Amino acid sequence: MASYIRQNKNDVDGWFDAVVNNGILFLNSSVSNLSTSPKSSLIDLYTAIELFFKARLMKEHWSLIISKPESAVKQKFESGDFHSVYLEQAHSRLKNICGENIKKEAMDNFKALGEHRNQIVHFAHTGFSGKETEVVIEHWASWFHLHELLTNHWWEIFECYQDSIDKIHVKVKSNHEFLKTKFDLIKDNIEIERKKGIRIVECTSCGLESARVLNSHSWGGEDIECLVCDVKDLKLRAIQTPIPCSNCNKEVEYFIVKDHRCTECQTELTSDYALEKYTQIYLDADPKGRYYDGTEPLAYCHNCKLEEPTVLNLEGIWICVECEDRGWTALDCENCGSFVTGDVDRIQYFACHRCEDDVMKLHEEEMQKYKAEVEVELSQALKQD
Ligand SMILES: [Zn+2]
Ligand SMILES: [Zn+2]
Ligand SMILES: [Zn+2]
Ligand SMILES: [Zn+2]
Repeated sequence: MASYIRQNKNDVDGWFDAVVNNGILFLNSSVSNLSTSPKSSLIDLYTAIELFFKARLMKEHWSLIISKPESAVKQKFESGDFHSVYLEQAHSRLKNICGENIKKEAMDNFKALGEHRNQIVHFAHTGFSGKETEVVIEHWASWFHLHELLTNHWWEIFECYQDSIDKIHVKVKSNHEFLKTKFDLIKDNIEIERKKGIRIVECTSCGLESARVLNSHSWGGEDIECLVCDVKDLKLRAIQTPIPCSNCNKEVEYFIVKDHRCTECQTELTSDYALEKYTQIYLDADPKGRYYDGTEPLAYCHNCKLEEPTVLNLEGIWICVECEDRGWTALDCENCGSFVTGDVDRIQYFACHRCEDDVMKLHEEEMQKYKAEVEVELSQALKQD
């Protein structure tokens, strides 16, 4: 937002709403113009990504979207008179100030799109004729990552806008035919990769059986790269252990089936029910074993922070049945004795999510006491002088 543009005076919420709506408009035009004007389509998509990053920052604090927050003046902000952050700046603020972890794959993709955008804007980008396929694919991959942020990672922040985001997603998906054509073209190559011993799995983005597994992690995640849509992503290995349907008793792969519905009778299994069933499976598989000391067989989840323990070990992976967060280790907090998930270092050297408020308070009290002591000493020393 350059300073020469006169803006209406807006409060912070009004600004947030305006920035998000602006992002949605750019997204929409980006999708609509993809085939008629691929250049402007990519520029619009990048603009939209930047706007959503700004909106996310604004939710933390309005001054964070100003390129130099130390010189932020609220009045100027409200009248739109300021220079705002670029994508990379926004990203490092999200990381350093809000403690947010955005997937590396997503950031790499956004940066690549940004470079492409700069080429188009600053130089006559001539490489487009006959490259429609590549443009559509680039568009697809960036939208995939942005969509995941908006509907998953940042869901709470953009909750009120999900309808518009869904509508755009439907439009983007209409390009799927296009990807299918590419899939048919490279089918033979995929077969060759398979014969070389490379695992090919379903792509998290386009859903085609065309993603190469680059690397497998012990906690059940795999780095993939799709040969059709070019998306690089982290794919979670599906936990297949089934539980019986609460209605018809058919075995249901709870973590895999859509909306946790029984494939036979369509009954939706609740997370409470699943927790009960999986706890049984977990205990049967491991009675008084590695994870069970007879008192606290399940761990407390630091992600959904429920009062009840909801994390158990299935197929060698710690997973929260409630929020389905996974990939963490479960360990005892030496401070409060809770069996919890979370960052190992943080729990060992500071506190777990269940006791961190208390530990913080204790630190503050000690700090206050120390300050008071110093003040007394100081005033006594001054008296003696
Ligand atoms: Zn794909
Ligand atoms: Zn059923
Ligand atoms: Zn959870
Ligand atoms: Zn603790």
